[in-house]
Amino acid sequence: MAKSLGSAAVMSAAVVGLDVRPVSVEVSLTRGTPMIQIVGLAQSAVREGRERIRAAAAQLDLHVPGVRITVNLAPADLPKTGAALDLPIMLGILCANGDVAQDALEGTLAVGELGLDGSLRSIRGALPIALYAAGDPHVTRLLLPRANLREASAADGIELGGSESLSRILAALRDGDRLLAPAALPPPAGWQPAGETPAADGFDLSAVKGQSVAKRALEIAAAGGHNLLLSGCPGSGKTSLARCLPGLLPELALPEAVGVTAIHSVAGLLADGSGLRRTRPFRAPHHSISEAGLIGGGSRPRPGEASLAHHGVLFLDELPEFGRRTLEALRQPIEEGQVRIVRAAGSASFPAEFTLVAAMNPCPCGYRGVPGRCRCSEQSVQRYRRRVSGPLLDRIDLLVDVPAVRWEDLADTGPVEASARVRERVSRARALAIRRRGSTNARLPPARLEQACGVDRGGRTLLRKAVTCLDLTARGYHRALRVARTLADLEGWSRVSEDHVAEAIRFRGSI
Ligand SMILES: [Zn+2]
Repeated sequence: MAKSLGSAAVMSAAVVGLDVRPVSVEVSLTRGTPMIQIVGLAQSAVREGRERIRAAAAQLDLHVPGVRITVNLAPADLPKTGAALDLPIMLGILCANGDVAQDALEGTLAVGELGLDGSLRSIRGALPIALYAAGDPHVTRLLLPRANLREASAADGIELGGSESLSRILAALRDGDRLLAPAALPPPAGWQPAGETPAADGFDLSAVKGQSVAKRALEIAAAGGHNLLLSGCPGSGKTSLARCLPGLLPELALPEAVGVTAIHSVAGLLADGSGLRRTRPFRAPHHSISEAGLIGGGSRPRPGEASLAHHGVLFLDELPEFGRRTLEALRQPIEEGQVRIVRAAGSASFPAEFTLVAAMNPCPCGYRGVPGRCRCSEQSVQRYRRRVSGPLLDRIDLLVDVPAVRWEDLADTGPVEASARVRERVSRARALAIRRRGSTNARLPPARLEQACGVDRGGRTLLRKAVTCLDLTARGYHRALRVARTLADLEGWSRVSEDHVAEAIRFRGSI
């Protein structure tokens, strides 16, 4: 074996799904043809780091020793992807060559992509890595790109050192220069003090004219966590209504905000310099989306739209146009609140607790019910509606017909309730449901639902009548019960009354 000319080890981490695994970057210098060899299941982006390291070193006048440099990424069975290992590999080489003292790296975990000019570029998954580092007793400090500093600062109990360049990191390690701490960052654009953060991205119910039934359905959906299907002509405002839903939900609690931010971070969707995400997500994928795009997937598992909508709203416009298999794949996340992706290279799971809002036209041309406009045959209407699978419909409690907006509504300038007011009622109702059963009403299992909902005698009589007179199916019956429970919660009632049942039955749509 060739005699070692120097060695070093630097702590780093790899993100697998939402999980973070420790990676030890071990560097050894030996006599031989000058080269950098990276071993330990390093995939192409990691191996390409060699070129970035050489270019950055040349730019900063750093000495990459003209010997054989072996970089081992341990554990060897964990696949490593992405460029976040550039920084620890570079530090390992400098340390093995004696340009940085091993002591200076004691307790330090490093991540960051190197630019050819020696800059440090943002990485995916900085928040999960910071949370991991905070929980690892061997780690006291995390070195990372400045662009990720604010995001990582949501993790408590870890010293963070941010920098926009490798040279500053080296100055800190060699001369003890201070690195940027989160407290030194200027407030982000649009920053507001805690407690005044908006609950939505500017969509407010007060801007929607008319549509009182659909607005009521949104309030119920928010209060009970119920999925919703809006059926109406093009231009009736289904999309604007759906966009209001995130703003009706209570503000994200801190752990929820951390969860949402972590998912967006590993998906690479956080802008440089952004911090904790406090608004609830609203995701509206196009109907041409693939199963993997909606649910998540890929050889290196990435979250799909269902997980990006976690704690928020997943909006599927033109529901019958989505692929049948794509919609079928949504059942598991709707039922379990999470997505499991199993791949040869490793499995991952992502949370996916979202409220589904689906929208569709009443017929292929879209104008059924508008006098003189629809020429669709009864057969084609049935075929169109059947494209929405029964099992998915089973998980949607509120079916709402959205009529075209009337002229009187557009001209009406009277006061309209704002989202903030509705959100107060929603928050109280959700708190009642969670105190009673530990979950929102939409998640109540069908078994013994009547007892669980606490329906009074009048309510039970009306439900029986609905089953016989309105031909209410078993699933229609369960839907009505869950929705009625939410209506009672909105009024603060412990029992579900006849009035609650009567209103709930009205949300059974025409699909
Ligand atoms: Zn039509």
